[in-house]
Amino acid sequence: MRMILLGPPGVGKGTQARFLMEKLGALQLSTGDLLRAAVRDGTELGKRAKGYMDQGELVPDDVILGLIRETLVELGDKPVIFDGFPRTVPQAEGLDRLLAELGGGVDRVLELTVDDEEVVRRLSARRCCPKDGAVYNLLYNPPRADSVCDRCGGPLIQRDDDKPEVIRHRLAVYHQQTEPLSDYYRGAGLLVRVNGDGTVDEVRRRVEDALA
Ligand code: AMP
Repeated sequence: MRMILLGPPGVGKGTQARFLMEKLGALQLSTGDLLRAAVRDGTELGKRAKGYMDQGELVPDDVILGLIRETLVELGDKPVIFDGFPRTVPQAEGLDRLLAELGGGVDRVLELTVDDEEVVRRLSARRCCPKDGAVYNLLYNPPRADSVCDRCGGPLIQRDDDKPEVIRHRLAVYHQQTEPLSDYYRGAGLLVRVNGDGTVDEVRRRVEDALA
């Protein structure tokens, strides 16, 4: 089983992916998380990716496809939920080729939708723990103590690319480069669309109904 979560930054892909992981017994494969780990570890990949990420630009397709190939070969035929990948038509085509090689294909694509103003509102309020990866939102899911991680007690930060001017650029990139994937997967008969407005639980119920 291989599922793709599509949708703008901040729509809740990561949050819903975590519910789906439990439900489907799948692994979440977030290219954003893999890249941030590479930047933190100072690897060659991280050095190549950092400048693009800080500016809200996409990391080049060949870099991303190399990373995905490596990860999928490692995972074998374990069920996977792709979160934040593919982000361009060449990435989607590359994934199709890779899966044809490894056996199987994409089974389902879930697109979460929300309007741009809501994205800016949500992402401006997002805070992360750089140590254990926990994600909070000052509007919907605040930490118990101000600016401190509930799990490890470390200080929370705002991602550089969650600053309002970078968010707007990421949205423009999304509309231009990622939105065409909606048609790509609709054409393949794989697309299911779900409204991403509302609380985490409301969206989770909609997702479950749509996939039932
Ligand atoms: P995310 O956490 O998914 O919002 O990703 C954060 C940043 O990582 C993006 O703004 C891009 O710079 C980069 N990134 C993540 N996934 C991809 C991808 N599939 N293709 C290109 N760049 C990506």
